Amino acid sequence: MYPKDLLKLIHYLKKLPGVGTKTAERFAFELIKFSDFELNDIGNLFKNLKKNIIYCEICGCLIAQDTCKFCDNNLRDSKKICIVASFKDVFLLEKTKTYNGFYHILENLISPIEGKEIDEKNILKLKKRVENSSINEVIIALDSTIQGDATSLYIKEELSSYKVNISRLAFGLPVGTSLDYIDGTTLSQAFIKRQSF
Ligand SMILES: [Zn+2]
Repeated sequence: MYPKDLLKLIHYLKKLPGVGTKTAERFAFELIKFSDFELNDIGNLFKNLKKNIIYCEICGCLIAQDTCKFCDNNLRDSKKICIVASFKDVFLLEKTKTYNGFYHILENLISPIEGKEIDEKNILKLKKRVENSSINEVIIALDSTIQGDATSLYIKEELSSYKVNISRLAFGLPVGTSLDYIDGTTLSQAFIKRQSF
């Protein structure tokens, strides 16, 4: 039987996506080998993670200080909002250098199978942004999955009373494709060829 703290470490590591018991054990044994300095540093990092990395109240992106590098950047196109599922997707899109507008992170998608609904407060926030910032295009950059489709339709409905163009990425890829698995060039093309939705 493993010592109690080791078990605890494995338990936490297993919470990470794609990490099963075997991988968690491997990670845990590697972590034990880290120097005292490194482990202390990691400890402090974890301790202050929620304090030092915060969410922008407008777009939901992770930011380090009070200013958001997207919302507070007047070099960006303030007429466009791109809706994504997570900050990770913002990062992917930024890498393609195809888009220069604002973002709106949903965090959770509608999942008809799991019975998960969307965060109404987040949609209300989106509506207010569209209304108050004279946005002319809302680009939906969600995965081509059941969840992505259901959420896209919902957003389209919710925004139907606003004078705004709604478009969705032109995947041209098999249904079930996640943005995560698309290379930068394909993602960039999907963005450029986005279609009215
Ligand atoms: Zn922001």
